[in-house]
Amino acid sequence: MTATEKNTDPAAAKAAETLVIGAGASGLAAAWELARTGHAVTVLEQRPTPGGNIQSQREDGWQIEIGPNTLMVKPPLYELLCELDLDGEAVFAGAAGKKRYIAKGGRTLALPTHPLNAPFNPIIGLGSWGKILREPWVKPPKGHQEESLAAFVERRLGRNILDYLVDPFVSGVYAGDPRRLSVKAAMPKLHALEREHGSLIRGGLAAMRQARQRAKAGTEKMPSDWRGKLISFPQGIQTLTDRLAEHIDAQPNAAIHCDHAIQSVRPHGGGWQVEDARGEIWQARHLVLATPAHVSAKLLAPLDPMLAEPLDEIVYPPVAAVALGFPPGLIAHPLDGFGVLIPRREQRRSLGALFSSTLFSDRAPEGHKLITAFIGGRQDPDAFEMSDEEMARQVVNDLGGLLGIEGPPVWQRVNRWPKAIPQYELGHLARVERLDQALSHHPGLSLIGNWRDGIAVGDCLENGRALAKRILGTETASH
Ligand SMILES: Cc1cc2nc3c(=O)[nH]c(=O)nc-3n(C[C@H](O)[C@H](O)[C@H](O)COP(=O)(O)OP(=O)(O)OC[C@H]3O[C@@H](n4cnc5c(N)ncnc54)[C@H](O)[C@@H]3O)c2cc1C
Repeated sequence: MTATEKNTDPAAAKAAETLVIGAGASGLAAAWELARTGHAVTVLEQRPTPGGNIQSQREDGWQIEIGPNTLMVKPPLYELLCELDLDGEAVFAGAAGKKRYIAKGGRTLALPTHPLNAPFNPIIGLGSWGKILREPWVKPPKGHQEESLAAFVERRLGRNILDYLVDPFVSGVYAGDPRRLSVKAAMPKLHALEREHGSLIRGGLAAMRQARQRAKAGTEKMPSDWRGKLISFPQGIQTLTDRLAEHIDAQPNAAIHCDHAIQSVRPHGGGWQVEDARGEIWQARHLVLATPAHVSAKLLAPLDPMLAEPLDEIVYPPVAAVALGFPPGLIAHPLDGFGVLIPRREQRRSLGALFSSTLFSDRAPEGHKLITAFIGGRQDPDAFEMSDEEMARQVVNDLGGLLGIEGPPVWQRVNRWPKAIPQYELGHLARVERLDQALSHHPGLSLIGNWRDGIAVGDCLENGRALAKRILGTETASH
């Protein structure tokens, strides 16, 4: 049966093998993996369109992202793009995308793009080198106490690297606070370098050697010119989730229903039942909640507080994305890079800004520049109390001197995320373990989302598919 011939009778759709609640990257990836194998899956989404955080908009010639701006390509993402026939449509961030600026002392300084240039880089500073050169001999801490990212970096590489590299990087990814984030939960690869190699430098060199060997042996499942690239699509990242949703909907046993906010969940007849805001009831053997942690907590609280409590403890600070459009000749800086990150020590409120019209073509009207700045986050939630106008003015103030902005933007949009990005803070892994233990008492119920095992879109897609494979595995085992 094709998508158009498909039985769209709601009564038929209401009984699926699996119900997925939430059509963000996590839920869509799980649904796609199930649907492509013929499994009957229904996705219920509260918003009018699928995609979750992924929302791209075009307005008056400005192409903006409300949520994520770039996707980092790894083999599983490349594989998915090929399945969706999207590999030919992806656009790569230009070569300038590799250049990243950090604000220091009121100027923008480029990070070294090659390790050999690092010794003379003013961001790292000569004072850091004594500590960096001793790093291979720094002993891991005794005992099993969980360490914050800040404590880990300061112990191994010193305060300057924490303040001018790690703090701004963490602002860019998590809008987080390195003193609160757990190194093991938030940066598991960094943590593993110390555990497996006794040193970040030794481990980093070993990882580079392995990557070169894989590339040489041709064992990587994607063309070498895609490796580590940042991509988007001409109409923005939403192309990916739109296409994923279309492919799911085109499967005979699968459907996505938007504008269906789920309000309650309960076990029912060996499976699960959910009720939406219209009073419609849906049921299935498997239930996947792919909603933010605080939403899943609310849905599960009446069923089992042991499930709801750890979910409810995960903090989501507010972040606003401020898109600013400038006419030709108003910015002195060449904007020849990915963007600029602003360390907290520089005492500006903005977390940093992406040079959006440099990263991808056709993001701004001819000759104009589009910059996307971020403000708020775990270290400055009060920034959210500003009005849109105040926020845009604050961002222009923060960036003005750094980028040589000589006049006001001709176009601006402020997009607010009151609960933006889940923080993997100290205690996160123990929380997730408690949750998994409680979950073992509720067969057929699964929880996914960016609040565990990685917040990048690519992580959510991989984790969604992995969960679907586990569901399909239990199906095969029970037949
Ligand atoms: C401002 C910002 C910038 C980011 N930048 C990047 C970036 O550049 N690169 C990157 O890789 N990642 C980035 N991220 C992170 C990334 O966007 C997210 O981690 C990822 O998209 C989350 O996907 P998800 O499916 O887990 O959750 P979500 O996208 O939150 O999806 C959850 C879905 O559940 C739905 N839902 C909620 N409640 C209900 C209910 N009761 N009933 C039915 N449906 C419900 C929601 O409407 C939503 O569609 C960014 C995030 C933000 C906020």
